[in-house]
Amino acid sequence: MERFYLTVARVAKKTLHHMVEHRIPMLPDIYSRHFYRFLASTDVESKEIIEEQQLSDHKEVSNQQDQSLGIMRELATMIDKLDLITGEHTEKLDNHLLNLKEYEEISDLNQLKREITEELSMVLNSNHEIHSNIIDAQETVKRLQSKMEEVADMATVDELTGLYNRRALFSRLSEEHSRAERYGQGFTLLLIDIDDFKNVNDEYGHQVGDGILRGLGAFLRQNLRDSDFPSRFGGEEFICLLPSTDIDHAVQAGNKIRNLLSQSTLSSKKTDITLQITVSIGISAFASGDNIDNLIKRADDALYLAKRQGKNRVVTEREL
Ligand code: GH3
Ligand code: MG
Ligand code: MG
Repeated sequence: MERFYLTVARVAKKTLHHMVEHRIPMLPDIYSRHFYRFLASTDVESKEIIEEQQLSDHKEVSNQQDQSLGIMRELATMIDKLDLITGEHTEKLDNHLLNLKEYEEISDLNQLKREITEELSMVLNSNHEIHSNIIDAQETVKRLQSKMEEVADMATVDELTGLYNRRALFSRLSEEHSRAERYGQGFTLLLIDIDDFKNVNDEYGHQVGDGILRGLGAFLRQNLRDSDFPSRFGGEEFICLLPSTDIDHAVQAGNKIRNLLSQSTLSSKKTDITLQITVSIGISAFASGDNIDNLIKRADDALYLAKRQGKNRVVTEREL
């Protein structure tokens, strides 16, 4: 990409030199005609770079096109600026040449020589300016890229399952925690872990495993209340936050999920494989003075007990 970018900058410079040298008027359409002529035919390396671009696969190309479009936009702004500056210089040089006929004294010619030299050095400075603008543009593109990464980082959705991600869960937990402390409005956590999930991966492969995780995500969304907060805690573990719910109602919700799941199948759409899975669920309920890490730890301990007691069951912190 950088090569492509630098090539465009190099050709822009070459075009401008050519136009100044041949005293071609600096009009945008004439400029672009010459620019593309240089880019496409007279410069072999540029041609190769463009051909390389065309050969790369479609996705890559459209991806790069998006990026280069932004870069081209910045370049266009710079080239417009350069166009303007060199246009001014060309006009001044034109005037000097027109006036040349009227100069009679050798001192006048010396003056003219000084002015033209000055003008040419300004043209050179313009070139330096454009070069540093190109460097600036590269920096801008880098900044844009890291901005985009930041935005992706701020996402609240888990890409695989479409459920809330861990970041979103902790943000919601902190809200619920404050609400519970302030208004005494309790909430509960269901920590759900797929039983023997390693076997799914081992027998059918990771892709099927991923498909099953996706299927479970959809299943949880479908079988919980809209006000509940299902999230992917990590790997094959999910935490559903149930606001304004006490431990007995959380057990009902947990058993509903467990029962429905043991009566249904999940399918990995991409691979067309349908499987039946079971889950174990550990439940904890917020208590006054609780902290979030403790709350999760108790759900985890309950889950561990559920696994030890034979899996496919719901265990609460009361049984610990
Ligand atoms: P248990 O019943 O005790 O929970 O057994 P298990 O095999 O489910 O538990 P364990 O924690 O030993 O293994 C979890 C497996 O989940 C291991 C890992 O390969 C798999 N896993 C974690 N994240 C992903 C994922 O994103 N995609 C896939 N396909 N598998 C995952
Ligand atoms: Mg696990
Ligand atoms: Mg598991």
